[in-house]
Amino acid sequence: MTRQYYRSVSGLALAMGLLLSAPAWAAPAPGAPERPHNLIIFVADGLRSSIVSPDTAPALAAIRRDGVDFHNSHSLYPTITTPNASAIATGHRLGDTGDFANTLFADAPALPAAYGALVAPVEDDGVLGDLNARFEGNYLNETTLLAAARAAGFSTAAVGKLGPTAIQDVTARDGATTVVIDDETGQPDGLPLSTDIAQALKAAKLGVIAPDRGLNADPGDFIRSGVHVSNAEQQDWFVQVATQVLLPRFKAADRPFALVFWSRDPDGTQHNTGDSLNSLTPGINGPTSLAAIRNASDDLQRLRDALKAQGLDQDTDIVVTADHGFSVTSKQSQTSAAAKMTFRDVPAGFLPPGFLGIDLSKALGLPLFESSGLDVELSEGFHPRQGGVILGADPQHPDIVIGINGGSDAIWLPTPAGRALAPKIVEALVSQDYTGAVFTTDDLGAIPGALPTSLIGLKGSALTPAPAIMVSFRSFSTGCDQPEICGAEVADTTLQQGQGIHGSFGRQDTHNFMAAIGPDFKAGFVDPAPVSNADLAITLAKVLGLDLKAKGHETGRVLAESLKGGETPASTSRTVRSAPAQNGFVTVLNLQESAGQTYFDAAGAPDRTLGLKP
Ligand SMILES: [Zn+2]
Repeated sequence: MTRQYYRSVSGLALAMGLLLSAPAWAAPAPGAPERPHNLIIFVADGLRSSIVSPDTAPALAAIRRDGVDFHNSHSLYPTITTPNASAIATGHRLGDTGDFANTLFADAPALPAAYGALVAPVEDDGVLGDLNARFEGNYLNETTLLAAARAAGFSTAAVGKLGPTAIQDVTARDGATTVVIDDETGQPDGLPLSTDIAQALKAAKLGVIAPDRGLNADPGDFIRSGVHVSNAEQQDWFVQVATQVLLPRFKAADRPFALVFWSRDPDGTQHNTGDSLNSLTPGINGPTSLAAIRNASDDLQRLRDALKAQGLDQDTDIVVTADHGFSVTSKQSQTSAAAKMTFRDVPAGFLPPGFLGIDLSKALGLPLFESSGLDVELSEGFHPRQGGVILGADPQHPDIVIGINGGSDAIWLPTPAGRALAPKIVEALVSQDYTGAVFTTDDLGAIPGALPTSLIGLKGSALTPAPAIMVSFRSFSTGCDQPEICGAEVADTTLQQGQGIHGSFGRQDTHNFMAAIGPDFKAGFVDPAPVSNADLAITLAKVLGLDLKAKGHETGRVLAESLKGGETPASTSRTVRSAPAQNGFVTVLNLQESAGQTYFDAAGAPDRTLGLKP
């Protein structure tokens, strides 16, 4: 069957003037590799490592117990979704993928799908298309694991949360190759669905339009609490699509398959939780967040059950990861000028969304605009209302661009005048009580108080403009016996104090859940070595016999110790400190090294960073 399939495809390809070569496993010769196993990557967005137990998340805990437990795991900084989605997809750190933040400055002019805003939301299929169009057809500048699997003749699909799902095969946007199904499927803005898949959905009595999140989408506001339900309803449809349509089709195709399932839970529910309005506790440990963690776990179980029902369970590797950990939002600062101002929808004394831009505008004496160039009407009680702000005399050519990203903000300096301001910006940042860590690009020279971005994998072969400065906000424990579980952090966000957030360099955000199980992985193995989201695609390419054709050098490693017969590499820890700023502020970085790779545990001023060893 397999050989026949390839003969017919190759014949067609030759007739079209293309050349496809059949993979080695399609017509195995003596000594040639066997047919690779199948792969499911299950991403539980925003799942903390330490929250998983047989009680909170039985299916997730079972994989960690029966397969490989990557307990020394790492999200990449900034601990945000699309940056980590780019690393999971390609096996490269962000210095190569150029996906530096969820709200990204991709140079002027504004991307068409960003509606005039210079800072674009990356969790948007239109913006992803625009980014590809601007940056050589593939803004990540690297081959994704799914694209490599597709090229090698695997059946491939990505299903789930808008943005990170399409990133998994970011150049497959025609509906005919990798099947991409997300929140916008079936809508005018969405990626197309092939007739074939649409018919299969109908045959399975499933809708061809992705359901919206319903009540789960409502974040509430400063006097009205957010959600009390998980994202179960929408995810039911994604799971049904995967289990009732895709897996049976994969089986019928009789080829290896690779499927990425991106579960929005627990992230979306933790962000929008209505359990803790304006209070740091219970934060994201209330019943609504716990229901979302359980929902992700149950969805994973349904995928495993369907594998078994199709007879695919013995031949399928399952890798589970989370893009990042999670924290509770704090909106408090004694030093911020923005926190002393009055806003229409912010409790008195709390930090407003966009506070970093407001404070820098005051410290530097520069006008502040929305990233669309519109005025921010502070005197009318309005704070910045989009995902970014710009500073400078001319909003068409801003000196400073800030991407508002929750537990961290990214700062671009597109003009020589802006770059000349870098030392002053850092001085202003380190004078604020909300600043945890500061990183600056190497070409700005050493700036007291800051460490270079090259140290943390943010300098590489990226096509997109790199932020000149990254600032991580202060994080702390709200006082439980497992600090990572009750971490809080100052965050630049439209969400309220008490709702969930992430993005900082505290260990509560870098410590994501990671585990694996299947025919290529060891059973019952606790991996002591450090691992990160950049290692997965590298490891899986090796397991599946795929070539990722790396361009950049900021790649992860093969996690040999997790594979059958593999040895555990030695690892060491060390700490790096910046020169002190004039006021004594120091950015400290805890890192681990193993097999030539560096892993980042936490970074920041010692008394302002959860999990940092001074
Ligand atoms: Zn996320």
